[in-house]
Amino acid sequence: MRLNGLTVIGCDGTNVNTGHTGDGSKTEHGVGAAFCVLTNDIWAYQWSAKLNDNNTAFQAELTALHEAIIYASHQPNLNTFKIHVDNRASIVASSNSKSTNETARKIFEILLSNPRIKVSWVKAHAGNIGNERAYQLAKDATQHGQPYSHTKLPKQHIKGLLRKRMLEEWQTSWKNGDTGRKIYNIMPSVSLRPTNWIREDVIFFSQHGPFHACLKKFHLSDSDYCSCGGIGTALHYATVCIYTASWHMRKPAPNFEQEWLKRAANNLVSRQKIRGIIKFISENRHLSQPP
Ligand SMILES: [Zn+2]
Repeated sequence: MRLNGLTVIGCDGTNVNTGHTGDGSKTEHGVGAAFCVLTNDIWAYQWSAKLNDNNTAFQAELTALHEAIIYASHQPNLNTFKIHVDNRASIVASSNSKSTNETARKIFEILLSNPRIKVSWVKAHAGNIGNERAYQLAKDATQHGQPYSHTKLPKQHIKGLLRKRMLEEWQTSWKNGDTGRKIYNIMPSVSLRPTNWIREDVIFFSQHGPFHACLKKFHLSDSDYCSCGGIGTALHYATVCIYTASWHMRKPAPNFEQEWLKRAANNLVSRQKIRGIIKFISENRHLSQPP
């Protein structure tokens, strides 16, 4: 063996994802990282591992490079190492001492104190023997590799987990709460999407507003009757009151009030009518005042 030998290390990481069935059933999915060592034209060493399925291809590339560099830094000082990487992003990240990626920063530090280790870019799938072999090893590792848990899960994935957990907790307290039950009946599921509800919608569907039935409950009116003779509920104004006839909607069948409210809430035409009614009775309270 030559004393000042040049060792070439090919490294690669891959995220294999074939088949998007959408239901997470049996598809070939996995993340692998690998490197292989070629000293004096002889395969001297190889390493591969299976990462968490949620790790990204970029993380796999950096993991392979990191492990390759650790390996090289532990070899006798006389050797010079050339590490072939086919991923520009991981080279860029590793040459930045302030990279947001922890693995990239570790790589940077090791390279800084080991000038005999050089990293260079090679074109992927272009016949570079170390690169081809590393790619194959990484690909095999996606299915059968030794599990590797030193690479953190991607931030996006953690965020997703937290969002899911938060929504579950929110959903439970919304379901079991005791306020806002009228709104709950219309919108039983919590969501981060905007509902596009405006003040008038909230007044109508929460049934807290200038309705006589409501004013009476809060001792703001002596009577819960509308001056037209009916009981002044939100539904009264929406379906039968003589003052709001131009916005009337068909009356719900008995016992179908909840269904009716739900449908009205999800129908833009109904919502426009409801907004008209609320604006009208807010501005013309004197009209429906009982005598
Ligand atoms: Zn009325």
